Amino acid sequence: MEGTGAAGSPGTEDSGFPAARAGRCGGLAELDAELVRCRACPRLVAWREETAAQPRAAFRGEEYWARPVPGFGPPDAALAVVGLAPAAHGGNRTGRMFTGDASGDFLFAALHAVGLASRRTSAHRGDGLELYGVRVTAPVHCAPPANRPTPAERRTCRPWLAAELALLGPGLRAVVALGAVGWQALLPVLGETGWPLPRPRPAFGHGVRITLPATGQRRELHVLGSYHPSRRNTFTGRLTFEMLVELLARAAALAGLEPEAG
Ligand code: SF4
Repeated sequence: MEGTGAAGSPGTEDSGFPAARAGRCGGLAELDAELVRCRACPRLVAWREETAAQPRAAFRGEEYWARPVPGFGPPDAALAVVGLAPAAHGGNRTGRMFTGDASGDFLFAALHAVGLASRRTSAHRGDGLELYGVRVTAPVHCAPPANRPTPAERRTCRPWLAAELALLGPGLRAVVALGAVGWQALLPVLGETGWPLPRPRPAFGHGVRITLPATGQRRELHVLGSYHPSRRNTFTGRLTFEMLVELLARAAALAGLEPEAG
């Protein structure tokens, strides 16, 4: 039975499933395969399936993904862009991070402008979009009601992103956190992955940058904050396209990437 583990090992519906499985995966493909089986947060499992059963009119007839959404991008990415969680009718529908909603349209157009994406639109998993040197992911992998995961859900999901960042290895040089809540969710993940965090924890702001020192198996890591490309921020002009392009270009340079601007 899917939700039941072998004797002594947590099943997919156990809150300990991410912690038990994520760190044991030897590569991102294995990690993604384990992740999509996860049902550790009952409220989010119910929500991801409920929204799939009640699609928006524009998406009626489409089969929603309705599972945890894996990170997207090459396994040797030097830069990670980290949101908070997939959108109910975006990533939860298409099965790819930031794909199929307005926030994703804004983000991928900016990545393309910097030269980090092969095209400026992101419609569905089979659209041919490629990312260059960047991986787009999140600290919570299932769509939450009102886009707000609880602190407990953030903690339960944390091992998946910690393992993903660890598997990106020493080539990972910079991370961009999208939004204040994404920033707050990302920092403990970085701590769990092995980087020492400054105390007190630095406050979020657009353009804020901290540099975590190299330690053990981890190289120095630059962490930048950006306003989230949500509809609210982009429609009000709080985050303009130029602001996001400038920030992503700065992050790419810190990561040692030399993209050709699109
Ligand atoms: Fe599992 Fe994370 Fe989804 Fe919770 S949010 S069910 S831990 S993948």
